[in-house]
Amino acid sequence: MRYTIDENKTVSMEILLPFNTAHCFIDGLWQPSIRGNVIQLRNPSDGTVLCEIAAGDEKDINAAVNAATTALDRAGKEGSGGARWGSYTALERGRVLSRMGQLVTQNIELLAELEATDVGKPLTQARADVVALARYLEFYAGAADKVHGETLPYLDGYTVYTLREAHGVTGHIIPWNYPMQIIGRSVGAALTMGNACVLKPAEDACLTALMFAEIARQAGLPAGALNVVPGTGEVAGSALASHVGVHHLSFTGSVEVGEKIQSQAAGNVVPVTLELGGKSPQIVFEDAVLDEALPFLVNAGIQNAGQTCSASSRILVQRSIYDDVLNAMAEKYRALRVGPAIADYDLGPLISGMQKQRVESYFAQDKQLQLIASGVIVDEAHTGGNYVAPRLYACNDEHHLLAQQEIFGPVQVVIPFQTEEQAIAIANGTEFGLVASVWTANGARQMRMAKRLRAGQVFINNYGAGGGVELPFGGVGKSGHGREKGFEALYGFSTLKTVAARHG
Ligand code: NAP
Ligand code: MG
Repeated sequence: MRYTIDENKTVSMEILLPFNTAHCFIDGLWQPSIRGNVIQLRNPSDGTVLCEIAAGDEKDINAAVNAATTALDRAGKEGSGGARWGSYTALERGRVLSRMGQLVTQNIELLAELEATDVGKPLTQARADVVALARYLEFYAGAADKVHGETLPYLDGYTVYTLREAHGVTGHIIPWNYPMQIIGRSVGAALTMGNACVLKPAEDACLTALMFAEIARQAGLPAGALNVVPGTGEVAGSALASHVGVHHLSFTGSVEVGEKIQSQAAGNVVPVTLELGGKSPQIVFEDAVLDEALPFLVNAGIQNAGQTCSASSRILVQRSIYDDVLNAMAEKYRALRVGPAIADYDLGPLISGMQKQRVESYFAQDKQLQLIASGVIVDEAHTGGNYVAPRLYACNDEHHLLAQQEIFGPVQVVIPFQTEEQAIAIANGTEFGLVASVWTANGARQMRMAKRLRAGQVFINNYGAGGGVELPFGGVGKSGHGREKGFEALYGFSTLKTVAARHG
């Protein structure tokens, strides 16, 4: 792929892709949506149309679920490409995933440029997402033949054991902010356990999801094991969430849509994993090593322009060091540069004009807060792009709207506290509970805080732990339920059957 930025600051991309971006991937084949509708995909860096994607609907979802169902049918005759997915052993499934991981790595630059262009994510961050996707596939490939049931001691004359089995057809509805990472942790784990997947990527960014399907095809994943149907959430997403042929749903996105998905899943009594939003705190005590904390304090808020579920949008600082931390963060903020994704500044644009408007509507409600510092949008940024300069606020009221709601943009509030008790109360004082971090040299305090913070992950003297694929991830409260990543995901994407044999 080649890019140029012309004198009008428009980013031109020459895409050389081995598939048609306006197609769905169903039953191992690239095909237009049945009704032939398309959506125009825009480049968030300059607002120009990048390409067309399919606008799948219930007909395409139906075809995809049927293909997935057939892929799981061991009894039927072999599919055109060879044996069906349902007949693969755990070892064979692992080998396919391993080949997919290798192909992802071989396509690192293409995938990174696609993701950067489509999502508006700085190239370096997009490249890290490709590495993570490959690592998920590698991790799950190795785990495929290491997940097993147990034998259970029981009554005399019985032998009892459990079998870990696939749910069947799994539906995956994902957002636009980290398509590759979320595909890795959700589709990767589901395939490992032998499920057949139907993936509905976000209409705002789905190019790497399509490329992932092509990689799966090239790696020899049998027809129907992975189907990708782009389209809007209200049409394609909703059709998938309510489809009677789906046996498990994995949703990553907003609380609002998560609630709908859970209701739709309830209609068919299928399990749901919900990975929703957050308002994750970092808590800095006066004995913290500030030089170590500072880069994490800022980066965790501005990575992917703050459009990260686990973004740290609240910084809680002990009163005695409050001014020092605020000043040091402000200095970093003033050095932040926002520009076209492929030019690889600290921040790219937001995903869409709508998201930009949403974030700016919060700026209009920043009364009672003190704007301490902002970053700078570079001259090279096109006026048609969705650029927002990151903002750092001092905040004395932890109940303020900007300190409570997920903004999903590059905004951090810094809140003072006096005591450990107060820090815990403020940290736990939102409806979310995704991740939290504590910066302190006091070991006893580290342990106390880890137990009392309401979050799915707690970090001590770091934030994010490098995003390790091995680490179970998910929320409490309105951040959702269920866990993805690590081995834990494999339990979520499978069900347990107990077999009790009476033999006397
Ligand atoms: P969103 O609006 O909830 O969309 C997420 C996905 O759901 C998209 O594919 C969307 O499709 C689809 N969708 C929308 N309405 C639907 C409906 N009625 N039925 C079925 N599907 C529907 O979320 P977003 O704004 O794209 O993403 C931002 C949110 O995701 C934030 O709240 C963020 O915290 C959360 N997130 C959470 C995690 C996590 O792991 N906890 C990770 C990343 C993001 P279209 O967009 O194509 O319409
Ligand atoms: Mg896009």
